[in-house]
Amino acid sequence: MYGAIEAGGTKFVCAIGTSELEILERESFPTTTPVETMALVVEFFKKHQAQLESIGVGSFGPIDIHRDSKTYGYITSTPKLAWQNFDFIGSLKQHFELPIAWTTDVNAACFGEYVAGNGKGLSSVVYYTIGTGIGGGALQEGKFVEGFSHPEMGHMLVRNHPADDFTGSCPFHGNCLEGMAAGPAIEQRLGRKGQTLAEDDPFWEIEAEYIAQCAYNTTLMLSPDVIIFGGGVMKQQHLMMKVHQAFERLMKSYVKTPQLSEYIVTPALEDNAGTIGCLALAREAKLHS
Ligand code: ADP
Ligand code: ZN
Repeated sequence: MYGAIEAGGTKFVCAIGTSELEILERESFPTTTPVETMALVVEFFKKHQAQLESIGVGSFGPIDIHRDSKTYGYITSTPKLAWQNFDFIGSLKQHFELPIAWTTDVNAACFGEYVAGNGKGLSSVVYYTIGTGIGGGALQEGKFVEGFSHPEMGHMLVRNHPADDFTGSCPFHGNCLEGMAAGPAIEQRLGRKGQTLAEDDPFWEIEAEYIAQCAYNTTLMLSPDVIIFGGGVMKQQHLMMKVHQAFERLMKSYVKTPQLSEYIVTPALEDNAGTIGCLALAREAKLHS
């Protein structure tokens, strides 16, 4: 059996699953301090220690992913102060002498969709989450796209929709993609949460425009086989059609992409993409250990 830890900024989802990536048991814990949250994580996996073969972790970040770095396995410069420079993998290794896979939360979700969702059978898959923040991960032939560090695609630059004078909520960049289109940006701009807006609210055209700009940039940079948008904001089912229309307006047929209904999509695994991805990464870690 494999363990999965989806370490998010608001909650940690821990799960146990099979080699067929079937989730057998799952529990969530609030993200408070490393001491408190990790104690619950350890307790959860201790119950299954006898059968546990490996663990896959997908974490909020930024994180250190370089195996030869002294701080490999750490959460690094996160704005969540209690978690800054926290040795995540080291603290797990104190309790579990098992292979542990370590990547970003969005890479894990990307991997989940790649092995069992809308990226299955494709060689180049990009995944974004549009939730409390915006994050993106990319896979090429089963490997995460990365260099000196993991991508931070959620902070790409976008240009303002002509009807939008919001200056952006990103503490670093103001009006980057996350600053304009993540859940808190919607709330700051309109004074209410996205989930309370009607389907025909004109704001959704603005939201769709930013997501389409993201898909446009992604298409031109990577020409992937599929671009998957998950996260809370994408629960607005009408939004994808508006994204497709805005994407066509931006692209002006410059690049002939796959059919949009199959090219820019929501995750087939819905909210399980991250957990299934972590299980699949754990399975890989065991295989290569
Ligand atoms: P997180 O990013 O914290 O893991 P979510 O992906 O659920 O969690 O994102 C939460 C953000 O998404 C909040 O800002 C919330 O207002 C927004 N959100 C959640 N559900 C919806 C919805 N149905 N429509 C619009 N916005 C939503
Ligand atoms: Zn930013």
